[in-house]
Amino acid sequence: MTVLLFALLTAALLGLLWVLRRQNRALQHLREAVLRGQPLLREESSDGGLPAWPALAETVNQLITDNTALRQQRTDQLAQLEATLGNLREAVLIVDESNYIHLANRALREIFPGARDLVNLRLELIVRSGPFLDYVRATRAGKELPREEFEIIDGANLHWIEASGAPIPSPDGKSQWALFVIHDLTSHRKLERVRRDFVANASHELRTPLSIIKGYIETLVDGHETMALEDRAKFLKTIQRHSDRLKSIIDDLLVLSRLESATPGLKFAPLTLAPFFQGLADEYRRRSAGADHEIVVTVPAEMGPVEADSDKLTQVFGNLLENALKYTSKGSRVEIGAQATMEDEIECYVRDNGAGIPAEDLPHIFERFFRVEKGRSRETGGTGLGLSIVKHIVQLHGGRVWAENRESGGLAIILRLPRQQKT
Ligand code: ADP
Repeated sequence: MTVLLFALLTAALLGLLWVLRRQNRALQHLREAVLRGQPLLREESSDGGLPAWPALAETVNQLITDNTALRQQRTDQLAQLEATLGNLREAVLIVDESNYIHLANRALREIFPGARDLVNLRLELIVRSGPFLDYVRATRAGKELPREEFEIIDGANLHWIEASGAPIPSPDGKSQWALFVIHDLTSHRKLERVRRDFVANASHELRTPLSIIKGYIETLVDGHETMALEDRAKFLKTIQRHSDRLKSIIDDLLVLSRLESATPGLKFAPLTLAPFFQGLADEYRRRSAGADHEIVVTVPAEMGPVEADSDKLTQVFGNLLENALKYTSKGSRVEIGAQATMEDEIECYVRDNGAGIPAEDLPHIFERFFRVEKGRSRETGGTGLGLSIVKHIVQLHGGRVWAENRESGGLAIILRLPRQQKT
């Protein structure tokens, strides 16, 4: 009897263990199916160990299928949106309820080139701007906000953007997302800053000689009757010198503004460099500064003509020769010349054996009003605009210009000009 009972108990226990193992395996299949997002296989669906298992498996399969379809629909909708908005010139951004980026069209990726793929990143990783993130939050919450400008730090870069946004429902309709149209104001702002700086610099440059002239004139008006003739002559000479300075600055500013205008009026024609440089060198040798220096011209005999505006190039090489004479001491050697570099380009240079320029100033010397030694430049009648005029003219020829300190000492200004202008 006891043996029978024991055998029955063992059989029941084994049966229970078997059912538990099947259930366990079935649950494992269920978990895996949900995780991989694919319905249970036929043999998995029937293998549940419980009478209700087939119905449960069918419901789960239906849920998985619906969810997959929804996910696909969402991806399709986003892909469709991406295709529609991808080529818009306006930058478009869509973020979800947790600030994950779901859409960033090409124009937006161009604003933030630092981040290669914006989708699936959190907005906070790309955009460091508390006010913009507040704006995103408020837009998503449905507040009607006007378009706003933001300063945004992306890595080491500072951007200015203008954004306007609207809340949108998420594709599954369960949460609120937000869509933004963004304009990049960075280059506009940089230009504004350059303009502002330029106006401030130009006013400062003009004010200095003007205040000196005004001061001397006031002294003359008050005291000309009692003033010694010698002093009066000295005062008038100073006024004359500073009026000349004023005129040079205004002349250079006018030249620059003409060069920057839509019609700078360049007249291109073939120019043979050897006689052109010889003529310039002769002219500068006749000047007093030139007479104190040695001016050497070197152009290879076989060098053909270059298509250029000779008046404008006279201004370029005139400015460069003037600088070379101005910033070197008596007896220095100034070289002007050309060499063919490639078939379609020639390289010209003006170099001296003076003191050169501190390395940290080299990248700035083509900027308007930049001077290494302010006093020296003003003393010698410099306006600080000569090299920026040079750069503009070279660029209008489709060329490049840069400065290098020579190993042997002194400065070399190098120009690359295309032999022929593009039509
Ligand atoms: P500036 O009218 O003052 O000469 P530029 O634009 O021609 O203005 O030159 C800018 C600055 O570059 C000058 O003020 C001077 O400090 C420096 N510079 C230009 N050419 C030379 C040179 N050959 N040697 C040394 N410094 C130079």
